Amino acid sequence: MSLRAPNLESAATINPDGSRRFIHPATPRGVFSALRSVTGVLLLGVYAALPWIPINGYPAVFLDIANRRFHLFGLTLVMQDLWLGFFLITGTGFGLFYLTALLGRVWCGWVCPQTVFLDVVRRIERLIEGDAPKRRRLDAMPWTGVKTLQRGLKQVLFALFALALAHVFLSYFVSLPLLWKMMLDSPLEHWSAFLFVFAMSAALWFDFAWFREQFCIVLCPYGRLQSVLMDNDTITVGYDAARGEPRGKKGTPGARDCVDCFRCVQVCPTGIDIRQGAQIECIACAACVDACNEVMVKLDRPTGLVRYDSANGFAGRKTRLIRPRTIVYSVLLLIGASVGAFSVSTFQMASVTVSRMIGEPYILSSAGVRNQHLLRIINKQNAPEVFQVRLRGAVGMTSSGAEELVATPPLGEAIRPLIATVPRAQFQPGQPITVLVDSSDGRFHAEQQVPFLGPNSP
Ligand code: SF4
Ligand code: SF4
Repeated sequence: MSLRAPNLESAATINPDGSRRFIHPATPRGVFSALRSVTGVLLLGVYAALPWIPINGYPAVFLDIANRRFHLFGLTLVMQDLWLGFFLITGTGFGLFYLTALLGRVWCGWVCPQTVFLDVVRRIERLIEGDAPKRRRLDAMPWTGVKTLQRGLKQVLFALFALALAHVFLSYFVSLPLLWKMMLDSPLEHWSAFLFVFAMSAALWFDFAWFREQFCIVLCPYGRLQSVLMDNDTITVGYDAARGEPRGKKGTPGARDCVDCFRCVQVCPTGIDIRQGAQIECIACAACVDACNEVMVKLDRPTGLVRYDSANGFAGRKTRLIRPRTIVYSVLLLIGASVGAFSVSTFQMASVTVSRMIGEPYILSSAGVRNQHLLRIINKQNAPEVFQVRLRGAVGMTSSGAEELVATPPLGEAIRPLIATVPRAQFQPGQPITVLVDSSDGRFHAEQQVPFLGPNSP
């Protein structure tokens, strides 16, 4: 399929009859493309390596859903600690807001998994089918043996890449040894994991084989959000119209620096023409910057006709990095980071809950008023721990289950009944009891007050 000049009235990836127009971006060469390749390799390396790196006896990131334990870089969180996820989610959100206000869609063009994966996919495609003109010619060709072989091999490699990504993703949840066992066992023995990997691989393969840039153009919510987060001081990829227009082939009288070579369009992975201004399809990958710089160097003209700059910068005005929205985002990020850091610094090695046993709220006997609770201690360390349990309450109170040592296994829990009896004469409605739990090494101390119920309790 031949190249068509993009316009602002229709999507470059949709034909006039509404069918999908498959684009074949040319390969950009330059500083930004090289840096993006290095970034992509590093990110894929980190993604593949995290389940292999042991910290405190567990992978660096291991989301052990089966046992409701989440191991993150040596820190073990249990379900009760999930409120910390609030800081992770809001921090990521405000971080992206901040980044977008400053640098536009730098996330999309440089670190988004979709972009990183598609870079690998395009490399595979280039390896098998050749450069962009060759791929376009292959598209237009009738189905021959060679075309079938090339297309088949490409799809097999896409599927293998998708399978590898899905298996690595699963290892974040089941650990590598279990993943390896699952791969050797029959799928029926781990059918839910098998279905998960199958569905994820199929979705990725569909993305690689057909959907591609459509994800960024029509599906990604962040792409839609960017327009309200950017302003005239946001630095993003743009075209210096003042320097480039009127455009014209080299030697055209009156033409300025843009020689209308379309190289910036040919390399664009979303098929747009950056010279038509900021567009929602632009993922700020800077491929057009490299492409145009290459042309400018060949023409012996200054580079930067297409460059990273702000709308103000392109208009010859000063770019303000410090402005109301970046100040607000900075303050919000700082507050969030401070509270999050404080929360992690006060992170406890164990958690204690005391709950009332099911049944009568209290029991009257000749010994007095009796209340029955359940004590649950979760040891969040990867080592056994012994806890001293004590109970404090009304004068004359007797108890069982307290004044005991409670042993817990590594990352395990212990549940004990706590039964307290207060003589009738000493019982005062509304007076609570206090459960105290201390670790044997004194690093952990928790106190919990629970109501002690009896006749005429409020
Ligand atoms: S216009 Fe330039 S920066 Fe934007 S997606 Fe296309 S090549 Fe990338
Ligand atoms: S690559 Fe540069 S010179 Fe060529 S069309 Fe694009 S902006 Fe103009």
